[in-house]
Amino acid sequence: MESAPPTDPRTTSDQVIRFPDPRLRRTAKPIPVEDMTPELIARAQGLFPLMYEENGIGLAAPQVGWNVRLFVINLSGEPEDELILLNPVVEEESGGTWRAEEGCLSVPKIYGKVTRNRRIRMVGWNLEGEEIEVEAEGMVARCLLHEHDHLDGILFIDRLSAVKKQAIRRKLRALEEDYADANAS
Ligand SMILES: [Zn+2]
Repeated sequence: MESAPPTDPRTTSDQVIRFPDPRLRRTAKPIPVEDMTPELIARAQGLFPLMYEENGIGLAAPQVGWNVRLFVINLSGEPEDELILLNPVVEEESGGTWRAEEGCLSVPKIYGKVTRNRRIRMVGWNLEGEEIEVEAEGMVARCLLHEHDHLDGILFIDRLSAVKKQAIRRKLRALEEDYADANAS
């Protein structure tokens, strides 16, 4: 009989879940103002260190299996560029479309070009429950739209061209096999 292993402190905190985990495909729930408890705020703030640890520039709550409409982004890694949005809504998209390569912490080692609008205006709440408006363009807009997609169960791989989808099929199959192995009882 083995003794219980020592507690890994990381098991008490959130972890990024990977494709094809079905929790990535849910439509996340809006956060009512009465749910903005210190516990929710602490968990939300905890997404930043997790994102940095994984070398990400954006992380949405569904990516840790948390079914709420909330995400964090930081494209520069500088503290002043941290942005968190609760219940974000895309108010306006403009500036025409452009294609650029995306990746996702939940779909490791797969990259592909996605067409998105160049400029957006998004509104949401900050952690004080105040409404904030974010106007962004280029990579920041792209990142906001990518994270917003996660709240609707959409992954960037869904937005790839048919040719590219075909090209990544084997890599997706490998992720599916990893997932099946990790979840085999
Ligand atoms: Zn992502």
